Amino acid sequence: MSFTLHGIAVSSGIAIGYAHLISHTSLEVVHYVLPKQFLDEEIARFDTALQSARREFASLRSNRPSHSAAEFDAFIELHQMILDDPLLSIAPREMIVAEHCNAEWALKIQTEALVAQFDEFEDAYLRERQLDVKQVAERLLMHLSGHPSHLPQPARHDVDTILVADDLSPADLIQFKPQQYAAFITDVGGATSHTAIVARSLNTPCVVGLHHARMLLREDDLLILDGEQGVLIVNPDKAMLAEYKLRQSEWELERKKLKRLRTARANTLDGAIIELHANIERPEDIVEAKEHGATGIGLFRSEFLFLNRHNLPSEEEQFTAYRAVAEGMEGQPVTIRTFDLGSDKPLKGKERTANNPALGLRAIRLCLAEPALFRTQLRALLRATHYGNIKILIPMLSCVSELNQTLQFIAATKQSLDHEGIPYNREVKIGGMIEIPAAALSLNIFAEKLDFLSIGTNDLIQYTLAIDRTDQDVAHLYDPLHPAILYLLAHIIGTSNKLRKPISLCGEMAGELPYTRLLLGMGLRQFSMSSVQVPSIKQRVLTTSLPDIAPLTHKILRTDDPMRLRELLDKLNTI
Ligand code: PEP
Ligand code: MG
Repeated sequence: MSFTLHGIAVSSGIAIGYAHLISHTSLEVVHYVLPKQFLDEEIARFDTALQSARREFASLRSNRPSHSAAEFDAFIELHQMILDDPLLSIAPREMIVAEHCNAEWALKIQTEALVAQFDEFEDAYLRERQLDVKQVAERLLMHLSGHPSHLPQPARHDVDTILVADDLSPADLIQFKPQQYAAFITDVGGATSHTAIVARSLNTPCVVGLHHARMLLREDDLLILDGEQGVLIVNPDKAMLAEYKLRQSEWELERKKLKRLRTARANTLDGAIIELHANIERPEDIVEAKEHGATGIGLFRSEFLFLNRHNLPSEEEQFTAYRAVAEGMEGQPVTIRTFDLGSDKPLKGKERTANNPALGLRAIRLCLAEPALFRTQLRALLRATHYGNIKILIPMLSCVSELNQTLQFIAATKQSLDHEGIPYNREVKIGGMIEIPAAALSLNIFAEKLDFLSIGTNDLIQYTLAIDRTDQDVAHLYDPLHPAILYLLAHIIGTSNKLRKPISLCGEMAGELPYTRLLLGMGLRQFSMSSVQVPSIKQRVLTTSLPDIAPLTHKILRTDDPMRLRELLDKLNTI
């Protein structure tokens, strides 16, 4: 049966492929009954997984980085204790024998029993430890799946596989190489979630917020995904398939044509020079950035170096990564953001149980709370400044005391490098992200102490409009044209220009064509976006005359009526 689902388009392109359903929470496991003669084998499989998990924890503990916090030891110790709890280590074996069930199922049931015990605690701290129980059970399940035994394996089609999930974290997604999957679709998520951003940077079509796709689709269903319109067609007929194959080749042709602009300077018709930089998540992304004609890296989200691993990247590892980006960009500017961990990008094992993690210990707040981690990164960053045109960017500043503390950290790190005779660029520029309304509204205080500013519209919109960027239920409220957002953007850009403080915009809005002229009209001259978006934004810049767009921009900024505003924006984009 053919049917269509609609979601939120987050990464363009048309993909045609077969559904491969994956489970996000590994505690969702299948249940099957085993014949008596397989029970010993199943218990042995469980025991092997248990031993492997024990070995893994022991090795994590003995190889812990010397500079890591004492909590790390306590954390591993707690997980070891949970793993050895009879409900996880013995009860599943007994259940396999008594009920003839598979090990995964026995583990799931016993985990639920243990979680329920934690639920009973009055003490909030102890209650929260149920998250640790789930994490330990998931580890054990992963070891079990390494020995799949009787588990059925899904059919795979590699390059024509469309991954269907409830949710994919940014950490999940960054692991997928672009050629591995034709597209990603998820039931949850918003347009500016980090999952969406990573899908875009992988140049892979992606639609999120489909609500029930994982429930309605079957493994191996034939799918068409239109990443531009946010449409998913399930089991299309021949005519539909032929139409989308045509659209797919037209889309690819258009992309190829745009790429020819690679070496053209992004100047407006009246000769203003506009900088179009790329946002990257991994050092190797600079290849794409250069291929698409970016003239610098406007945002390196360094936190991705910290994801998908059980240990922390050492100073040396980080230094090598930052140096590689700086050298690879051959003198062009490279803005490296100190890690923006927390919220939807937690460190493994440090997943927060806070009710509102986006309002919690995230980005610079986490850096300041974990000084050893922060110092290691600052040392690596400063050392790398010796090898290229690196600037350092601080995320999520909300008050000046955070900035003062950060600047003190940087000064102290410079001092220790001086003592050791290690070279670095003494004039390295330090910038701040303006992505919290409080920082936008008190811009002068930040501008005074910083060398440059960068607007993070993804968070600025999230925090101004009070919409969780990862929540599909409020995704429709994401609105860069909301009067409050336009006011803040005009204020930030106008004030920075008046103060002659370099200002860039590195949120998703920078790569969205409808807003390019509006932002140029507000006075923005530096944009940073996903590499794939650079060519189309460049084309728009090349066909824009700043004097021509000025009157309409002013009109838009004075308009309250949303309908009229959209009409004027359409007009602005067609002159
Ligand atoms: C932003 O908030 O707009 C931004 C660029 O940073 P991130 O998307 O990584 O939060
Ligand atoms: Mg941000």
